[in-house]
Amino acid sequence: MTPHPGEVTLHYLWMLRPKAQLSSVLEITPQWLQERGIRGLLVDLDNTLVPYKFKGEAPEAIIAWVRGLEAAGVRVFLVSNARRKRLKAWSAKLGVEGIGLAGKPWFGIRKGLKQLGLPASQVAMVGDQVFTDVLGGNLAGAYTVLVTPVSDKELGYTKLVRQLERLILKQ
Ligand SMILES: [Mg+2]
Repeated sequence: MTPHPGEVTLHYLWMLRPKAQLSSVLEITPQWLQERGIRGLLVDLDNTLVPYKFKGEAPEAIIAWVRGLEAAGVRVFLVSNARRKRLKAWSAKLGVEGIGLAGKPWFGIRKGLKQLGLPASQVAMVGDQVFTDVLGGNLAGAYTVLVTPVSDKELGYTKLVRQLERLILKQ
């Protein structure tokens, strides 16, 4: 039997659906993670922790958030599609290891899982984009958290992707 085209679309939509949607990473607390059995976070950089292309000082709230998680035993690792040089600079500023040019959604997340040394079922991928962070996280079997982008300064391409994301999330 050939499924109706609409059914095929719905069948694959799970890959694009985040398990949770939050307005900021700051809403992710050790308790929130513990309730979901999550012991490690893979975190996107641009528009998740800092504005896209932002080169200033690390926001204090973000640093405090990372240190609070680590103090509670949560492992944190950055997985970003940004250039390696940018990722390296932010890795130093935030005091968090990570990989740049990760190639999300197809690559990078499994590498991140290896770095955390945790099974995907105990890890959340946190990011602001459905087609990289959520898709990649879901494909790797991780818990996925979509956060509101911290800045609306984006590439034209990303703006187009945002329109597609809105369509998907409305389904
Ligand atoms: Mg991002």
